Amino acid sequence: MFEKILVANRGEIAVRIIRACKELNIRTVAVYSEADANSMHVQMADEAICIGKGASSDSYLRIDRIISAAEIADVDAIHPGYGFLSENAHFADVCENCKIRFIGPSSQAMNLLENKATSRALAKKAGVPVPPGSDGLIENEQEALKIAQKIGYPVMIKAIAGGGGRGMRVAHNDVSLIKGYHTARTEAEKCFGNSAVYIEKFIENPHHIEFQILGDNKGNIIHLGERDCSIQRRNQKIVEETPSPLIENKFKDLRKKMGKAAIRLAEVAHYTSAGTVEFIVDDNGNFYFLEVNKRVQVEHPITEEVTGIDIVRQQILIAMGEPLRISQSDVTFKGHAIECRINAEDPFDDFRPSPGRIEMYYAPGGRGVRVDSHAYAGYTIPPHYDSLIGKLITYGKDRREAMDKMARALGEYMITGVKTTIPFELAIMQDPNFRRGVYTTNFIEQLLGGPRRDLIEEKI
Ligand code: ADP
Ligand code: ADP
Ligand code: MG
Repeated sequence: MFEKILVANRGEIAVRIIRACKELNIRTVAVYSEADANSMHVQMADEAICIGKGASSDSYLRIDRIISAAEIADVDAIHPGYGFLSENAHFADVCENCKIRFIGPSSQAMNLLENKATSRALAKKAGVPVPPGSDGLIENEQEALKIAQKIGYPVMIKAIAGGGGRGMRVAHNDVSLIKGYHTARTEAEKCFGNSAVYIEKFIENPHHIEFQILGDNKGNIIHLGERDCSIQRRNQKIVEETPSPLIENKFKDLRKKMGKAAIRLAEVAHYTSAGTVEFIVDDNGNFYFLEVNKRVQVEHPITEEVTGIDIVRQQILIAMGEPLRISQSDVTFKGHAIECRINAEDPFDDFRPSPGRIEMYYAPGGRGVRVDSHAYAGYTIPPHYDSLIGKLITYGKDRREAMDKMARALGEYMITGVKTTIPFELAIMQDPNFRRGVYTTNFIEQLLGGPRRDLIEEKI
C-alpha cells in the first residue's frame, strides 16, 4: 500500500490526483514553481516543495529536482498527470531506479509507443488500421512528393513527437506540400526539439473518437468505451462527449470493433495503467489509428461519469500491483456526459491567452454538474503554462439532458477579471448541428464562419 505520493504536475490535474489520494487515505506531496506558490494544488497537498522558477524548463520538467523532492519527502510513488514528464520513458526509468513507483505504463511500453511513427508501426503489427502513408520518416522534399503522389492529396505532414495539435500541416498540392513540410519541421523543432516528420492521408470529414484503456500488471486489459472529441479548434479538443453521437446514431457496431482494436494494440505493447487509443473515423465508418496517449487524459471525467469507474484511483491501485477487479463484461455505460474545457482565452479576440487575476469566481453546481478546477477568487493565472483553468462536466440520463445541463451550468459559471471560453461553449451548446449530434472536426471553423484556416494557409 502506498503511504505517500508526489504529484509531479500543477493545475486542475494536480488537484484531481490529490483528491483521489485523499479518498484512498494516501498522503500527498505537491511540487510547485515560484509562479505557482498560491496555486490550489499547493494548498491541498499535505506537503509542498518549491522546485524552481516559473518556466516549466526550470521546474515541472526538471527530473533532478522532482526526484530530489521525492527523496526528501520519502514518497512511495510519483503521479505525473498529463503533459510535462508524463510520457517521458527516461523519467519513468529514473523513478524505478530510485525505487519510486511511476504511476503510468512501464518504460518498455512507453518506448514501444514512444512517438507517432513507432506507434503507427506497432498498430500495423497488431492489425489495427492506420491511415495510408509513409512507412517511416520523410527525410527530404523528394520523398514527401513521392509519398503524396502515391497516396493522393490531401495529405497531412505530422511531427512524430507532436502533441497538443502542433507540428502538423495539411497539404492539397505539391506546392503546399513543400511549404507544409518545412513549416511542420520548424514548428516541431521549436516545440519538441525534434524535427522528424512523416506523412499520412488526411481523412476528410474526420471524427476524432478515442478509447479509454485500463491494463493491470497481470495482463488484463479492458476498455471503458469511447469519447468523441471532434469539437476541436486547430486540432485541440475543446468539447468532448460520451457516448459518441456518430456511433450511437450511425455506426452502432463500431464501439465493439474499435474497442477490440484498441485492446489489441494495448496487448502488443504490454500496456499497463490508464491510456487512450485515438482514432480518426470517416463518414463511412472506416476507422484509422492516430496515436496512444500514455497517461491520464484531460477528458477522462466523462468516462468516469458514464461508467462509474474512477480512472485516477484505478491508476494508483494498478501501480500498487492490484489486479483489475473489473472485467470487460462488468463495464456498462449509463447516460450521457459532456465536458467543456474552460480556457482563460478571449474567444472574441482569436482565442488570445488571458492570464491575470481572477476577481470573482462562482462555480456552477446542482445535480449532474461536476467542476474539476484549481481556480478561485483572487487566484492569479500565471502566463507560463497552458490556459486550461477548469473543466465543466455534466451528466444526464440522455444526450439532451446533458446538453441542457451544460448550457445551464455554463450560464451559471461566473469568472471575472480574465476572459474565458465560456461564451463560445455556450454558443456550441445552442448550435443546431451540435444539438443534432451531427459534426466533424471541421465544426468550429464552420461555426466561426469560414473554412479551416490551416487549409487556407496551405492552399496557395
Ligand atoms: P488530451 O488528449 O489529454 O486532451 P492534450 O493534447 O490537450 O491532451 O494535452 C494535454 C496537455 O498535455 C496539454 O497541456 C498539452 O500542452 C500537453 N501535451 C500534450 N502532448 C504533449 C507533448 N508531446 N509535449 C509536451 N506537452 C504535451
Ligand atoms: P496530437 O498529438 O497533437 O494530439 P493527433 O495525431 O492526435 O495529434 O491529431 C490531433 C488532431 O488532428 C486529430 O484529433 C484530428 O482532428 C487531426 N488529425 C490528425 N491526423 C489526421 C488525419 N490523418 N486526417 C484528418 N485529421 C487528422
Ligand atoms: Mg492526439
